[in-house]
Amino acid sequence: MLSSSEIKSMLEKEPKFDDIFCSLRATGKQPKGIIKEAKEVIAIARKFNEEIVRKQTIELDLISHENPDDLPWDYMKEANKWGFFTMFVPKIFGGKGYSMSTLGYFCEEISSVCLGLATLTCAHYLGYGLLISSWNMRVINKISREIVEGEKNGKPCLLSLAITEADAGTDSQNIELMDTGNLVCHAKKTDDGYILNGSKIFISAGHLSTWHITHAYTDLNKGSESTVMLAVKTGSKGFSFGKKEKKMGQKVCPASELVFSDCFVPDDLVCIDNRKSKKLSKAIYDTNAQIFAYIWGGSRTGVGGFGTGAARGAFEEALKFASENKLDGKLMINHSWCQATLAEMYSNVAVARASYSEANYVNGLHGLWKLLNIKPLYYLLKLTPLSVLDIIFKWFNEKEFSTWFFRKLCLDLHTDDEIRRIDGWGALAKIVGTDKGMENCRLALELMGHAGVRHNNRIEKIYRDAKLLQIYEGTNQVNRMIVFKRLVAGKNPDACVFSANTN
Ligand SMILES: Cc1cc2nc3c(=O)[nH]c(=O)nc-3n(C[C@H](O)[C@H](O)[C@H](O)COP(=O)(O)OP(=O)(O)OC[C@H]3O[C@@H](n4cnc5c(N)ncnc54)[C@H](O)[C@@H]3O)c2cc1C
Repeated sequence: MLSSSEIKSMLEKEPKFDDIFCSLRATGKQPKGIIKEAKEVIAIARKFNEEIVRKQTIELDLISHENPDDLPWDYMKEANKWGFFTMFVPKIFGGKGYSMSTLGYFCEEISSVCLGLATLTCAHYLGYGLLISSWNMRVINKISREIVEGEKNGKPCLLSLAITEADAGTDSQNIELMDTGNLVCHAKKTDDGYILNGSKIFISAGHLSTWHITHAYTDLNKGSESTVMLAVKTGSKGFSFGKKEKKMGQKVCPASELVFSDCFVPDDLVCIDNRKSKKLSKAIYDTNAQIFAYIWGGSRTGVGGFGTGAARGAFEEALKFASENKLDGKLMINHSWCQATLAEMYSNVAVARASYSEANYVNGLHGLWKLLNIKPLYYLLKLTPLSVLDIIFKWFNEKEFSTWFFRKLCLDLHTDDEIRRIDGWGALAKIVGTDKGMENCRLALELMGHAGVRHNNRIEKIYRDAKLLQIYEGTNQVNRMIVFKRLVAGKNPDACVFSANTN
C-alpha cells in the first residue's frame, strides 16, 4: 500500500482532505461529551416548542404585524426562565457552558416551528459571539455576569450586534469593502473613552437588548483599520432607540434603529480598538478581518441551522397536509408525484443539515469555540462545579494578563488557513441552509394549493420568515463570493474578489 508520506502528499492535493472532511477529523479530536450535550439541547428545544413556541407563533406574528410597537417581553421572560440566555455562555463567565457547537441544533429546532421566535431567542448569541471575538476578558466577564444575574432576577439581559448602517450593509460587514463604503458611525477618542455619533439600522432584537456590541470607526474613510468595538448599554446618555422596521417576515423580532448622539463610552467598555490591536503581532487590518471571520463563521452556521429549520417546518406542514387531504378520492401521500415532492423536501432538509453540521465541525476545530472544545479544558470545565470556577475566574478574568493570554492564543496564533476555512464554511452553510429553506417553502406552497396561502396554515408565514434569511448575515449573493474567495479561488493568482483591480 502507500507509505505515510505518500498518503500525506496525496491528501494535500486539491481538494485537500482537511478542507472537505472536517467532520471526520473532528470525531477524534472533539470531546464525545458534545454529543450528549447536543441531545440535551435538542430535547430542551423540543419541549420548549411544545409548551411555548407552537402555541404562540401565529398569534405573535399577527400582533407584531398590527402593532410593531408591541414588544414580546412575555416571551423573552419565558425564554429567560428556561435558561436560554446563559445556556451557551461559557462556565468561566458564570454561564451554563453548553458547547457553542450545539447552538446550531438549537437554532434548527426552534426555527422548525417559528423562525421569528428563533431569531428573537438567538440574536442574543450574535451579539455575544461578537463580544467574545474581541477576547477582552474583563468586558466579557462583566457583561456575562449581568446576563447570569438577569436570569436569576427574571429580567432578561440580552445583547445585540450592531454593525449595519443605513448606507452600508454589505460594505460594513466585509473588510475589503469598508474603506469605499459609506460609513457614518464615528468614534472620537477622548482621554478616557470614545464619543460615539451616528446610527445603526436593522439590529435584531435591539429594542429588547440591554447591551449593544457596536462597530464604529475613528476614520470613516479607513474603517478597515480604525474599527472600534464598543459595548453600549441601553440607558446610556446619548443613546436612544429609533424606529422599528415594518418588515415582511420574522415580525415578532424587532429590527431596530440605534441612535448615538455624543454618546460617551468609557475605556472600560471598549472591547477592542486599534490601540489594543497594535499590541498583537498581526497587522490591524488582519486582526479586523479575523474578527469578522470569527463572527460570521459562527453566526452564518447558525443561520444555516435556521434555514434547515425552515426547510423542515415547510416539509412537516406539507407532509401533514398530504397525509390528511384527498385528491381524486385518494390520500395525497399515495399520489406518486406527491411522494416524489416529499422525498425531495426531505432530502433538502438533510442536505441543509449536513452543511451546517460540517460548518459546526469547522468552527469547533478552527473557529470561535475551538479553545473550549479542546478535550482536557472541556472536561475540566464540565466537571468542575461552577462555584469553584467562579472563585478562580472572577479573579482571573479581571486581570490584564488573561486578555493578553487569550488574545495571544485565539487571535495571534490563529492561522490564515483556519480563518479561510471558518469564513468559507460559514458562508457555505448559510447559502445551502437558507436556499433549501426557501425551496421547501415553494414546494410546500405548490403542494398545498390555496390552503397554503391561509395564514393559520403556517406555510405562508414560514415563506415570509425564510426569505429574510437569504438577506441577513450578508446576502446569499455576497456569501457566494465569500465561498469563491475562501474555498474556490485557492492559489489561483488571477482570482480577485471584492476588488476593483480585476482584469
Ligand atoms: C431581518 C433582518 C435582521 C438583521 N439583523 C441585523 C443585526 O442584528 N445586526 C446587524 O448589524 N445587521 C442586521 N441586518 C442587516 C443585514 O446583515 C444586511 O441587510 C445584509 O448584510 C445586506 O446588506 P444590505 O441590506 O445593506 O444590502 P446591500 O449591501 O445594499 O446590497 C444590495 C444588493 O447588492 C448586492 N451587493 C452589495 N455589495 C456587493 C458587492 N460588493 N458585490 C456584489 N454584490 C453586492 C447584494 O447582494 C444585494 O443584492 C439585518 C437585516 C435584516 C433584513
